[in-house]
Amino acid sequence: LLVALADAGRDSTRSDSDEAVSPEGSGKKKVVILGTGWGGISFLKSLDASKYDVRVVSPRNYFVFTPLLPSVTSGTVEARSITEPIRRIIRKKDVKFHEAECTKIDEANKKVMCRDISDVKCKGKEDFELEYDYLVVAVGATSNTFGTKGVEEYCHFLKEIEDAEKIRGRIVDCFETASLPHLSDEDRRKLLSFVIVGGGPTGVEYAAELHDLIYEDLTSLYPELQKIVNITLVQSGDHILNTFDGRISEYAEKKFSREGIDVKIGSRVLGVTEETISFKSKATGKLMEIPYGMIVWSTGIGTRPVIADYMKQIGQTDRRVLATDEWLRVKNTDGVYALGDCATVEQRKIAEDIADLFKLADKDGDGYLSVSEFVDTMDNVRMRYPQIDLYMERQHMEGVVGLLNDALKKEKNVKLDLEHFSEAICKVDSQMKSGPATAQVAAQQGEYLALSFNHMAMGSPDEGPIRVRGGGRHRYHPFRYRHLGQFAPLGGETTAAELPGDWVSIGRSTQWLWYSVYASKQVSWRTRALVIFDWTKRFVFGRDSSR
Ligand code: FAD
Ligand code: MG
Ligand code: MG
Ligand code: MG
Ligand code: MG
Repeated sequence: LLVALADAGRDSTRSDSDEAVSPEGSGKKKVVILGTGWGGISFLKSLDASKYDVRVVSPRNYFVFTPLLPSVTSGTVEARSITEPIRRIIRKKDVKFHEAECTKIDEANKKVMCRDISDVKCKGKEDFELEYDYLVVAVGATSNTFGTKGVEEYCHFLKEIEDAEKIRGRIVDCFETASLPHLSDEDRRKLLSFVIVGGGPTGVEYAAELHDLIYEDLTSLYPELQKIVNITLVQSGDHILNTFDGRISEYAEKKFSREGIDVKIGSRVLGVTEETISFKSKATGKLMEIPYGMIVWSTGIGTRPVIADYMKQIGQTDRRVLATDEWLRVKNTDGVYALGDCATVEQRKIAEDIADLFKLADKDGDGYLSVSEFVDTMDNVRMRYPQIDLYMERQHMEGVVGLLNDALKKEKNVKLDLEHFSEAICKVDSQMKSGPATAQVAAQQGEYLALSFNHMAMGSPDEGPIRVRGGGRHRYHPFRYRHLGQFAPLGGETTAAELPGDWVSIGRSTQWLWYSVYASKQVSWRTRALVIFDWTKRFVFGRDSSR
């Protein structure tokens, strides 16, 4: 029944055949959204679609809840439980969906070229064009191979639902093949050598899932193979989970080594062949080569071809992702916005505007800022440059606030000249960080942008949820990322969590927090029910070991 339910949404989805032009005389601005991942869907969900002529283009007609993809590789959660059909999401909205890939963004003519890349297509009519007034680019990123030889051919990636299903099938295949009667011990060892490249959150979570699958379920089904299984995690940095608090990476490293996961830190992969993977230790220069049954490659993000081509058109070369301003507008373009993994916000350095800021603040024009002049300005500055708030939250008080406090402590009428003002500001700039490539960032950006669009459509930009300032092009409050913390599932019902305010917790109770957060973040009640059902099933019956 559940399968039928899950199918119902998707099967109804391929019969759409509307014309690719907007209705005559509707007078609405055309918005084209590229991508149905975290960024695109979050934008779509918050957008008031009745105000625009909205079209969505994506090669897959469903959304994937990526944080649970690693659980699909082990069969803890079924693939269908973490996908939501786009047609269900837009059911009650005035939005058109086209299942196709955008092959080119034509900046000069404000058009996108698209192609039907599915199995069923109308011969000679695979390609079509869409015009836009506003384009929202949320196509995500590819896996970065850093040009390493053999990776494309022989490694598995973990990006899409199909990837996770392939990995699951491959693991079981390795165990079944290793059980054939005529193989040598060496053959079996090779087949059961699992390698993960990349010690970031995804690589580590995948390693933990693999370990659980093997030691909680498979070894009792293949008892004679238990002793020869090998899991190796290759990480180029000095620690795994190096974007997390030090306590978490240390705990994870200890846990893994206790469990027999071989963590090779400070190691760079040189190449992969059909039989072996070779890498080099940065510290000792030692070369290592190990035979493998399966490699999962999970290191960093790369650029999609359509984005690389677009970057050339707009002069953003030598970059991995599109640069936008704090309003998520792609720099040097007209009406194009980008968010999520394919983009990064390049905050304008406050120091660039320092002279203007100073002049603005110095109301009496004496060449100095008094304390009250300084305080007044900082309110405006904080709104224009959200990085200041991040900075203050981190309690690096020696910066702007520190200076102000000193001034207040010493004497009431202390004054600040331009030189000291810029010194304080430069400290803030140096703390600037762009958001990480996570679902959390993409989702917040999508929602922010939708609210801005809703505003734009209202014509009068003085009301509504986005704070509005003055006139001109900086009317809207810039995007500001709120970090809500991050989880690192480590296997064996243990999860590490890092929450704002330096709060770290590791253990079984954190695993339950993880279950509840991830259940609550599901995009629909349908997927929420399916995911919880899968977890329960796993607790009772273990994971399924069939291919
Ligand atoms: P995506 O979600 O990747 O969406 C891109 C969309 O664009 C897709 O629908 C794709 O089909 C479509 N598309 C691709 N090419 C084209 C084209 N040419 N034309 C039109 N459409 C196109 N983040 C977290 O915060 N927490 C986690 O726990 C977490 N776990 C993760 C686990 C895994 C295994 C992975 C792979 C990622 C994980 N992430 C996590 C990261 C998170 O998934 C990404 O940061 C997020 O998906 C980025 O959103 P996006 O919209 O930019 O891209
Ligand atoms: Mg997207
Ligand atoms: Mg088709
Ligand atoms: Mg980004
Ligand atoms: Mg003054």
